[in-house]
Amino acid sequence: MPLKTSKYIWHEGKLVPWEQATVHVLSHALHYGSSVFEGIRVYKTPTGAMGFRLTDHMRRLYHSAKIYRIKIPFALDVLVEACRDVVRENGLLNGAYIRPIAFRGYGEMGVAGNIDQPATVSIAAWEWGSYLGEGALEQGVDVCVSSWQRVAPNTVPALAKAGGNYLSSALVTLEARRLGFAEGLALNTAGFVSEGAGENLFVIQNGKIYTPPVASSILSGLTRNTVIQLAEQAGIEVLEQNIPRELLYIADEVFLTGTAAELTPVRSVDKIPVGEGKRGPITEKLQKQFFGLFDGTTADRWGWLEPIVDQKARTRPMAV
Ligand code: PMP
Repeated sequence: MPLKTSKYIWHEGKLVPWEQATVHVLSHALHYGSSVFEGIRVYKTPTGAMGFRLTDHMRRLYHSAKIYRIKIPFALDVLVEACRDVVRENGLLNGAYIRPIAFRGYGEMGVAGNIDQPATVSIAAWEWGSYLGEGALEQGVDVCVSSWQRVAPNTVPALAKAGGNYLSSALVTLEARRLGFAEGLALNTAGFVSEGAGENLFVIQNGKIYTPPVASSILSGLTRNTVIQLAEQAGIEVLEQNIPRELLYIADEVFLTGTAAELTPVRSVDKIPVGEGKRGPITEKLQKQFFGLFDGTTADRWGWLEPIVDQKARTRPMAV
């Protein structure tokens, strides 16, 4: 689906018209994948537009940059504010997807680039609907286990959300789509289930929830963390442990989480129906809790909703 453009992009400290946020073809990141980025959703809630875990996402951006010694020349609070600005100035208060990116820009070539050169930083935002297709949230999606494995731990670090990592994800999704599936899941090099191309994965069996640990070559997803806390609040046990491929076939329920995918049920894996081949009851319950954060039916005890417009209305608990 083509990108739905908006008016402005925050580029290097100021808002510029969408078409003018361009970079040189010899930018380092274009050649070597040396970018780090984030994806954040803005939801329209009864108390106004909210960035979901906006600050946590931006913290992860700095962590990704740190792993690669990429210097972000702006403070965290400046970039958080810039995200809010981009949404406001583009009039996206009904919901949006924010995409901040920091990358090694134009200046020096060679694999390592110049680690002293400050990164180029941009933040765009646009309207973005359901990632895995219409109806995915209710009906669930059909996925396959990819023939491509996730990056091994001592090769490319999975905890960094870096541009280069997504060549691996692209291979997984391209293969899945070519074979008629909505998404592909990857095993790690030890043979255990890792994650979807752009989503974390959860399996439910006998009332307990299982998800691969962070050492399973996954991105430590904020939606994953959110769902773990919502499940625990609902009294459902969550175990972070290695998951063998065949557990996907005999699980009662499977679902994927991610900022783009939100909380999407999986109805089949490799054409084997998961449970009854439709969204299961625990998945539905967790979806209700998750989306309840945005319609006000789930209390935000954690301060995850960060107002886009009125900073004073922040729900994050204030220090006294
Ligand atoms: N894994 C990968 C590889 C991803 O790209 C994403 C999306 N950022 C996720 C998991 C989910 O992370 P989050 O919930 O923070 O969006």
